[in-house]
Amino acid sequence: MLSLRNFDIKFIKGIGPARAELLQKELGLRSAYDLLHHYPTSYVDRSKIYSIRSLLSAGQELPYLQVKGRFVSFNTLGEGAKMRLVGLFSDGTATMEVTWFRGIKNIRSSLSPQKEYILFGKPGTFNGRLQMTHPEVDSPDSAAATQGMRGVYPLTERLRQRNFGSRQIFTAIQNLLTSRTTPFSDTLPAEVVRSQGLMPLDAAIRAIHLPPDPQTLQQARFRLKFEELFYIQTDILMRSQKRKAQIAGHPMPRVGYWFNTFYKECLPFELTGAQKRVIKEIRADIMGNRQMNRLVQGDVGCGKTLVALMCMLLAIDNGYQACLMAPTEILATQHYQTIRDLAAKIGLNVKLLTGSTRAKERAEIHRQLTEGTLHLLVGTHAVIEDTVQFRNLGFVVIDEQHRFGVAQRARLWAKNDIPPHVLVMTATPIPRTLAMTVYGDLDVSVIDELPPGRKPVETLLRFDEQRFRVYQAVGRQLRAGHQVYFVYPLIEENEKLDLKSLEEGYESICETFRDYRVAFVHGKMKPAEKDHQMELFASGKAAIMVATTVIEVGVNVPNATTMIIENAERFGLSQLHQLRGRVGRGADKSYCILMSKYKIAKETRQRLDVMTSTTDGFVIAEADMQFRGPGDIEGTMQSGMPFELHIANLATDGQIIGAARRAAETLLASDPDLSRPENTLLARTIREIARRTIDWSQIS
Ligand code: ADP
Ligand code: MG
Repeated sequence: MLSLRNFDIKFIKGIGPARAELLQKELGLRSAYDLLHHYPTSYVDRSKIYSIRSLLSAGQELPYLQVKGRFVSFNTLGEGAKMRLVGLFSDGTATMEVTWFRGIKNIRSSLSPQKEYILFGKPGTFNGRLQMTHPEVDSPDSAAATQGMRGVYPLTERLRQRNFGSRQIFTAIQNLLTSRTTPFSDTLPAEVVRSQGLMPLDAAIRAIHLPPDPQTLQQARFRLKFEELFYIQTDILMRSQKRKAQIAGHPMPRVGYWFNTFYKECLPFELTGAQKRVIKEIRADIMGNRQMNRLVQGDVGCGKTLVALMCMLLAIDNGYQACLMAPTEILATQHYQTIRDLAAKIGLNVKLLTGSTRAKERAEIHRQLTEGTLHLLVGTHAVIEDTVQFRNLGFVVIDEQHRFGVAQRARLWAKNDIPPHVLVMTATPIPRTLAMTVYGDLDVSVIDELPPGRKPVETLLRFDEQRFRVYQAVGRQLRAGHQVYFVYPLIEENEKLDLKSLEEGYESICETFRDYRVAFVHGKMKPAEKDHQMELFASGKAAIMVATTVIEVGVNVPNATTMIIENAERFGLSQLHQLRGRVGRGADKSYCILMSKYKIAKETRQRLDVMTSTTDGFVIAEADMQFRGPGDIEGTMQSGMPFELHIANLATDGQIIGAARRAAETLLASDPDLSRPENTLLARTIREIARRTIDWSQIS
C-alpha cells in the first residue's frame, strides 16, 4: 500500500495527465494511495428503483437515486453557450425532464427512444417540474446498474463541469483495484487485527469503494477508522515516551515554606477533592528530573487559578521562579490581583508585566527577574519578549491555552537550557480521549468538581418580543444592589453592523436604566480605556456592563448576578457556556437570559435548548461537537493533528478513539519502539504518512 504513494494517478486507466492535474488541483489527489483513501461520503442502493410518481410527492430534497423507463422525446433548446438538450423521460407512472448542458451531440446520438434505461442521479424540481441534470445512463442489464451499493464521492463544482463525476472516480478506483494481482498486505500488526476483530486491509479498501452489503460496509468503515485513529494514538504515545525519556526537567522535590504557609494561613477555603488530586498529579510530575507538560482541564469556576498558584509555590519552594501567562491584559491583571491578594500575607514577590507596563516599572521587573528576587511574574505575552530574562525560570502556567499561539509558546524554550515545567489550563471542556488526541502528548488532568455551595445559573430563552419583561427583571436585580452584564456578538465579517448594534444597545440601556452607571467595553478600544471601563464594573462603581465577548474568559465579579446575551443564536455553545460562567460566582442566585429572534432554525433552537437545560460543561461540549464538529471547538484541532483524517471523526468516534488508544498502549508495552519484525511496516507507515509540520514535544 505504501508503495502506491509513488504511483502517479495519471497512469491509472480512466484518468490520464489532464484529469490527473485537475484531480490534484481540486481534491489534492496525487497518488494512487490518495485516490484509494478518497472514500465515498454516502452510498446509494442500486438495487432499488423509484417510481417517478413517488418522487413527485416526496416534497423534500431527494438523494441520489435511480429510475427506470424510456425517453419519450428530445428537444434542443437555447443557443450557443446556453444550448441544452432536454429529454422527457417516462416510467409509466409519471414523467421527468432530463437535461444536459454538455456533450449534447454524443448523448443525443447514443440514446434511442425505444430502449429502456436506468437513470442514476439527484432529482430536483425546476419550475414545478421534476428534473434530473446529467444523470448516469445505463441499460438495465449493465453491471453498473445492477451492482448493490454505489458510493457517492466528494467532488467539486469544477470537476462536475469537466464531466468528472462520482462515477468517473468510482471507475478509476475500480480499474486500479482490478489491475492489482496481489492483495494489499496489512499495515496493522496481525495481533491488532486479530484482537480487535478487524477486517483485513485489502478487503476493507475494496468494500468501502464497492460494498457488497451494508454489514460488510460497516465493518470496512470500522476497520479504516480504527486504523487512522490507531496511527495517531501510537504516534502520540511513542513521542510522549520519547519526551519523558529524553527531555530533562528541573527536579522539584521540596515542599517548603511558601507552599506550607500559604496552605495554612492564606487559603480562604478548603480545596475541593479534585483540586487536591490535580495538585498531587502535578507534584508527582515535577518531583523527578523530567520536564512536565500537563493540561489541566476544568469547567469555568472550578478553581484552576488556585491550583496553578499552589503549584507555582512548589516551584518557588525549590528555588525557581514561576510565570503565569494569560491571553488578554484584563485577564492577566485579574490573575495578578487575585494572586497578590491571596499571597500578600506571606510576602510573595509578584509582579505584573503587560504591553502597557510603564518603562520604569518594566526596568525594575527586569532587574528583579535577573537578580532572582522576583518570585512570580504574571503577564500577557509581553513576558516572552526577548528582552525578558529570568534568572531561573522553572515553572510556566498558560491560562486559556487556546488563545495562545503555538509559536508564542515555543519561544519559552529559548529562555533556558533545561525547559521549565509547563502547565496549560483550559476551560474548554472536551472529552478526555479527545483531549489526549488533540493536545498531542500532553498529560491531561481534569478538575471535575465545583467548589461547594455553587448555585447553578438559571438560564432562560427569551424572544425580542419579551424584552420589556426582561428589562423589568434586570431592574429588580439592580435595585437589589446586584450588577448586570449585557453581551453583544461581534463577529469579524459584519463588524460594522455589529458595532452599530452594540452602540445602539448601549445607548438604549443607558436610557432605560438612567439611575445606574453603565460601563462599556469592546475589542476595538484602546487597552487603557478598556481597563478603565472594566475597573468601573469590577469595583462596583458601574452597575451595568455592556460588552462584546472580550469579557468571555476569566473575568471575576461575584456581585454580577445577571447576564443578558443578545443574539444568542449567533454564538457557539461553548462560547455561551464561557460567557455564562461570568455569573453565578457569588452566593446569590444568578440568571442568564438568552435573547433571540422568535424565528430561528430548528437546529439553532435545539442548540439554545441545550444551554437552558444543563450547566455541565462536558455535556455542552459534546453537544457543541455534535452540532458543529470538533473543528469549531478548538480552531486548530483538526489541522493540528499529525495525520490527515479521511474517515474517522474526532467528534463522533470517541469510542473508537478509546479502543485505538488501548490497543496502542498494549502494543507499545511489548514493543516500545516498534522494532520487532511484525511491527516494522506499522512503524514505517506512521513515519511516512505523518505530517511533521508541528512537533508537539517542542511546543507545549
Ligand atoms: P476557573 O477555573 O474558572 O479559572 P477560578 O480559579 O477563577 O476558576 O475560581 C473561581 C472562583 O472560585 C474564585 O473566586 C475562587 O476564589 C473560588 N474558589 C476556587 N477554589 C475554591 C474552593 N476550593 N472552594 C471555594 N471557592 C473556591
Ligand atoms: Mg480562569
